[in-house]
Amino acid sequence: MHEQYRVDPEQIPAIDPGDELQELKVSLQLLQNFNYSQLDLKKLTTYGFNTGASRSLGKERSVPDTRHKMCLNKFYPKNLPTASVIICFHNEEFYALFRTILSVINLTPHHLLEEIILVDDKSDFDDLKENLYYQLDDYREKVKLVRTNIRQGLIRARMIGASRATGDVLVFLDSHCEVNRMWLEPLLLAISKNSKMVVCPLIDVIDDLTLQYKPSPLVRGIFNWDLQFKWDNVYSYEMEGPEGLTGPIRSPAMAGGIFAIHKHYFNSIGQFDKGMELWGGENVELSLRIWMCGGQLFILPCSRVGHLTKGYLYRDWRLTKALLYNNLRLTYVWLDDYKEQVFVNNPGLKFANYGNISERIELRKRLGCKSFQWYLDTVFPELEPSPNKLMEASQ
Ligand code: UDP
Ligand code: MN
Repeated sequence: MHEQYRVDPEQIPAIDPGDELQELKVSLQLLQNFNYSQLDLKKLTTYGFNTGASRSLGKERSVPDTRHKMCLNKFYPKNLPTASVIICFHNEEFYALFRTILSVINLTPHHLLEEIILVDDKSDFDDLKENLYYQLDDYREKVKLVRTNIRQGLIRARMIGASRATGDVLVFLDSHCEVNRMWLEPLLLAISKNSKMVVCPLIDVIDDLTLQYKPSPLVRGIFNWDLQFKWDNVYSYEMEGPEGLTGPIRSPAMAGGIFAIHKHYFNSIGQFDKGMELWGGENVELSLRIWMCGGQLFILPCSRVGHLTKGYLYRDWRLTKALLYNNLRLTYVWLDDYKEQVFVNNPGLKFANYGNISERIELRKRLGCKSFQWYLDTVFPELEPSPNKLMEASQ
């Protein structure tokens, strides 16, 4: 998810793709037990992962059940809210996309799955055009395909998907996921009890070279003053409740791509910031908005979804630019006086453009949201001001 992204925009034009591939080759040689000779390095950086391995897995496979055994004893009522699963994609690898779709169809009770809404955000790859449409023929009853006329970026693409949804709960997935057994029921049950509860599965890892599905430890989501999302250890006292290692994990932030939210709650708290561009920042923005405006955010470890890491993806500079722009928007809307913390490491950002945010400021007022200080005190006390700032304050 977003935390893998560490590219400095200034450096990108200087990279010679030839050198980059050479470097990659050397580092891959160091990996043991991996037959790198079958790897197409150009494709590796275009798609971000080993497409040969993906093709050989095909359109569906079964993945190991990574849940704690206590999850198997949990009971979920048959009558739960219905889900619209929204999957946006831009230039996704065909088989990774198809495994996402078929894993949802195969592992979701038919009566709970209202629909899968695929939003093609103006992909260029040929196999995602007519071919994808025809390959979906057998699944027409559940799968709807929407295509944008211009590339909207993932934030607006998700809003387009949400606007078409007819189910009770919106479930967002990236286009390179594989869901696990009973993945949806815990999410729907939590939301049925409290419609202001936003819930995420625990995200397992699909390895970008071997495509192996690997369990993740219990984690929560946090971010730093550069607004970079990170995974963080869960305090043991959090696990002392009756549900032990299977209880909900309170999370200051979400990773972004994979979460469930009641459709009416999503609409009433202001969806996403449609002024945000292409990619990034929307996960931290939504997390702050949920907590500060009366909602809650949890990770449910009995719901597991694998996410294919794209460690080799060559992300172009427009994404970096968008991320900075989006982060600035959320800084000015949500961080109050703490916005200065964001500028400590990035003083240049103080002078950067972030568009018009008046609508979002208005939204914050209308919803009667609490202060960022409240969020720090109550939800995320571990985010401490940087030492620089403390020194200035003591002078
Ligand atoms: N995406 C999109 N439009 C864009 C950029 C991304 O629809 O302009 C999709 C992308 O195909 C993926 C999801 O949004 O399904 C999240 O993007 P990505 O996986 O690159 O984000 P990460 O997992 O690295 O946070
Ligand atoms: Mn992703």
